[in-house]
Amino acid sequence: MKYVDAFRDPAASRAVVSELASLAGKLRESGIRPAIMEVCGTHTMAIARNGIRDVLPPEVSLISGPGCPVCVTEPGYIDAAILAATRATVFTFGDMLNVPGSEDSLATARAAGADVHPCYSPSAALDFARANPARETVFLAIGFETTIAPVAALAAAAENGLPNFSMLTALKLVPPALAALVSDPAVHIDAFLCPAHVSAIIGSDAYAPFAGPGGRPCVIAGFEPLDILYGIRCILAQLADGQAFVENEYARVVKPEGNVKAQNLISRYMEPYDAAWRGIGVIPASGLRLRKQYGAMDAESRFGIRVEPGTPPTGCRCGDVLKGILNPPGCPLFDGRCTPENPVGPCMVSSEGACAAWHSYRRIAPAGKDA
Ligand code: SF4
Repeated sequence: MKYVDAFRDPAASRAVVSELASLAGKLRESGIRPAIMEVCGTHTMAIARNGIRDVLPPEVSLISGPGCPVCVTEPGYIDAAILAATRATVFTFGDMLNVPGSEDSLATARAAGADVHPCYSPSAALDFARANPARETVFLAIGFETTIAPVAALAAAAENGLPNFSMLTALKLVPPALAALVSDPAVHIDAFLCPAHVSAIIGSDAYAPFAGPGGRPCVIAGFEPLDILYGIRCILAQLADGQAFVENEYARVVKPEGNVKAQNLISRYMEPYDAAWRGIGVIPASGLRLRKQYGAMDAESRFGIRVEPGTPPTGCRCGDVLKGILNPPGCPLFDGRCTPENPVGPCMVSSEGACAAWHSYRRIAPAGKDA
């Protein structure tokens, strides 16, 4: 059996599904109907693609969280990126192109002549800046801890010798977002299915503040179907035993302390600030930006651009979706006015967006499980 197939094995999957049913039975006797938040957008997509919801006991619900970097980026950031494209060649991950700003998206700006290039790797922006020393080059640096590490490496590479390179940053941190969610009385979460790749950087110890007495089970899981099922099994077992601790189902990648080398690189170039999240608001110390001494690489100060909150699309409920208050079909615009072809909000645009996941992979779910 190939390594990856070990995490897609049908017989093993059936065995775990049966364990889940038995654990859910125990929870039912205690009157617990667990709401588990998968924090990461990649988990959201993997859960939808693999039909995980369909095999869960009916009383177990999975709710999507704020872990899609494109989805949590404020419309005002898109406005600022469009402005940057009037002064520089702008490189961005492709997902960002169709995200609505206050009025336009980068795609519409590009169609109107803005100098915007989609790229798969930030190094494309560096290569362009090297090859075109007379042209200002801006990389749109958005993402969570997994992406922040390569962005810091980008800063290291550009620090000396690339005066025409800068970044417009909207970098976000997962633990402060979890802290904001658990302190929001409108949000009900019994356990966190914690992200895989982000945890490889920050380490499993980073979730300790959310577990323990009065806290919630926090289980780190990989992205394969069995990883996710094992992670949910760990959560249900903890809930059935009245426990709430950090459990690392993805130990083949994630260490308790995380990737210390990456953490040191990040803290060399970045400092925390109170970042605004689309639909959620400002969360204390939830963003990272370039330290003052690297201001020459900061597109905001370089071009005198200010990232304002901007205006979200009318009627879009992305904020509630990102907080886990609403499943996408609960949005009145879902699959009507808002589709991947004509997205109203970013959760329908991104390849990690909850609305896009429900649109692409939604099946006829058992009663009561799809909204
Ligand atoms: S369906 Fe569209 S409008 Fe509604 S929350 Fe999702 S992205 Fe926003």
